[in-house]
Amino acid sequence: MYHSMEALHTILTTPSPHIRTLFHLAQSPPQVLIIEGGSEEARFLTSFAYTLLLSCMSSSRPCYSCDACLSITPYINASQEYASLEKKQKQEHGVAVIIGDVLYLNGKEGVYSKQITSLKKHVSDQPKFKKHIVIIEEFQAIYSIKEIANALLKTMEESSHALFVLTAPERNSLAHTILSRAFILTLPFRTSLSCTVENTWVDALISFLKEGNGWFAKSMSKDGCSSEDVSALVLACTAALCEYRHGTVQSPLAQLFAHYMPPVFLCTQIIQEAEQAFHSHINPLLIADTLATRLYTLLHSSHR
Ligand SMILES: [Zn+2]
Repeated sequence: MYHSMEALHTILTTPSPHIRTLFHLAQSPPQVLIIEGGSEEARFLTSFAYTLLLSCMSSSRPCYSCDACLSITPYINASQEYASLEKKQKQEHGVAVIIGDVLYLNGKEGVYSKQITSLKKHVSDQPKFKKHIVIIEEFQAIYSIKEIANALLKTMEESSHALFVLTAPERNSLAHTILSRAFILTLPFRTSLSCTVENTWVDALISFLKEGNGWFAKSMSKDGCSSEDVSALVLACTAALCEYRHGTVQSPLAQLFAHYMPPVFLCTQIIQEAEQAFHSHINPLLIADTLATRLYTLLHSSHR
């Protein structure tokens, strides 16, 4: 995935309620912050924006030039230098990367006991700047591994001085034990995008979920389905699921969920798998067809 300092700086300087919350949280940080919602990229950038706010040694945070800021920027710029460091460290610590006070790992790459050991060691050392920060991106991907989840919870309990930042598409994929000790920040879904680009795909999905027809005529048409279409379709589903879960049903897709009342965790699983497939560069049309048919089956089997 491509990240850059400019994108991160834009996030930090955009006046929005969740960024204001991020600044407030950095003043008196919770031990565990979960960032949900938005896109995977937005969650990644927000987790590092928060890390910069927590770590910067200057008064005008973040300054991007103090030693603490400079130790974090390689994660975001993903420079050549970072790539070789990542390769070296992954041999040493499993898939975790440690620079300065920050330990970063991506749940999608899997987590092994070797990493939990390096995580424990990392948080027990003296921090170089202010505090140890552990960032686990796409935490939902590893949370179901009981051994890992328990070891992580134990580490959290034993290292009250370290801060944990976890990202996940939505909180329902995480267990109560972790949610109960966390502050949850919900990023906005890209509604402006999902209202324009893919409306015809969302419309097609809605009528297919209702009537059971019309979808394949559209998906087989010569215009096909682009990766932007699928990205927007997945976002629309995620946003609708969020509305359904919070009982603030507005969009037509959320109204459909509310009508059929499918189990939230099964919906989450289907939508997450579509998102994962999207990031694994699987054929967009195949993802869209699978998403539509799985949702159709789920909705209609829950409604008997
Ligand atoms: Zn700084």
